[in-house]
Amino acid sequence: MLAAGRCGIVREFRAISVVTLTDVAFQRCIVPACGATYGVDEVRVACDVCGSLLDVVYDWERLKPPDKLSFFETKWSRRYEPLSLSGVWRFYELLPFAPRDRVVTIGEGQTLLQSSPGVAKYVGVDGGELLLQYEGLNPSGSFKDNGMSAAFTHAHTINAKRAACASTGNTSASLALYCSVTKLMRAVIFIGSGKISYGKLSQALDFGALTMQIAGDFDDAMARVKEVSSQLGIYLVNSVNPFRLEGQKTIMFRVLEALRWEVPDWIVVPGGNLGNSSAFGKAFAELKEIGLIDRVPRLAVINAKGADTLYELYENRGLRWNGGQIDGAIRDDYYAELDAAEKRASTIASAIEINRPVNLEKCLRALDTCDGVVREVTDQQILDAKAQVGAGGLGCEPASAASVAGAKLLVSQGVIAPSDRVVCVLTGHQLKDPTATVAYHTTDQDQFNRVLGSRGVKRAAFANRAVAVPNQLDEIVKAIQLYS
Ligand SMILES: *Cc1c(COP(=O)(O)O)cnc(C)c1O
Ligand SMILES: [Zn+2]
Repeated sequence: MLAAGRCGIVREFRAISVVTLTDVAFQRCIVPACGATYGVDEVRVACDVCGSLLDVVYDWERLKPPDKLSFFETKWSRRYEPLSLSGVWRFYELLPFAPRDRVVTIGEGQTLLQSSPGVAKYVGVDGGELLLQYEGLNPSGSFKDNGMSAAFTHAHTINAKRAACASTGNTSASLALYCSVTKLMRAVIFIGSGKISYGKLSQALDFGALTMQIAGDFDDAMARVKEVSSQLGIYLVNSVNPFRLEGQKTIMFRVLEALRWEVPDWIVVPGGNLGNSSAFGKAFAELKEIGLIDRVPRLAVINAKGADTLYELYENRGLRWNGGQIDGAIRDDYYAELDAAEKRASTIASAIEINRPVNLEKCLRALDTCDGVVREVTDQQILDAKAQVGAGGLGCEPASAASVAGAKLLVSQGVIAPSDRVVCVLTGHQLKDPTATVAYHTTDQDQFNRVLGSRGVKRAAFANRAVAVPNQLDEIVKAIQLYS
């Protein structure tokens, strides 16, 4: 059967009257020396020739994308159209891999870029500006919806009936949501046992996903889901899926949009599987290539100390993109050391608790594009930063706060200047992981020790402790007067 994508016609496409998508969008191996290409209607997670990751690439010459980013502002007045309302598909012209009539949107990407003077002070960008790109506002509460909308669209384009992912929680919550809203596919999700926060697990269960809890951690779940989906022909939506990253590019388009198309000095993002950082690098490289921006921001990717593969490889062992000639032995030796030491990823920031990031190579390319740096932060630094973010009004989950903790570290090291304009991406909503938040603010030392002390967190410098009062009016009144 001919896949739908092959005969999809982009009738409305500007400047091109009738053109099939497979002529202007295709998949290509990220290694320039290989460069193998595949149709946009094919399902693969790696290059057949060399095994590397794939990109979705476009023939910009023929597509003739808008010549000014302000073109996208014209869509604001057409919010009644789902493709203009969506914060992902508003930028359709910059990710045109599917026919418009196959695009799946549930209103993702209605997120905001908020200036935060309190967090700026904490981070130390006094003369500059600190902005929080709050992706917790997505329908499932994390940035994953940006990528899911795109991967789901691709899956729908090729008529997939089941979609699977391994997840530390947010990808599965997102996939489960898209399946339950659209009824286009059945969600099959793989999670490591005991590693997923209740906020995220409850979403997957509530939305009706087939939930496979395997005895192992995320890296195990990832390995199994790849095998299972190739054996059963289930569509894989993990971020090895190049279409996901197309959706995640739009997080940066919205940052630019909120800054009236001015490029900030820094983008700071937590690094787990490195899909986001990879997508951001691709977004800026493409905008520059098309001529829509004249410079790219610098990129900082922040690992948790207990899951710091990228930091170790990039900052300590000198692994670089190197024009696509990556020294694989550096990576392989490190993974062999991890195995020999039986070292497992471990951090309170469960969304980035990953030791074998699937997008490592793409992220190295992004770091190359954006003159990037990588840092690691402790769980203590993460939770303190998270409390500061919360006090500033935008609650986030622990992994998200790694960006703020990382920005603070980079300012203290003199890498980020106090006068810089810095955008920290808050990847997920506060309510995703209330356990960590409550343990941080608790007065119950046992609870603190159990949840956080075991991870080397010693104090909660910014704790807002509940006041215990007897069930008596006068005592309550006294306490309020004392504390307020
Ligand atoms: C998935 C996730 C991350 C990690 O993003 P990658 O693209 O895998 O690096 C960070 N924070 C949250 C909340 C996430 O859900
Ligand atoms: Zn290849």
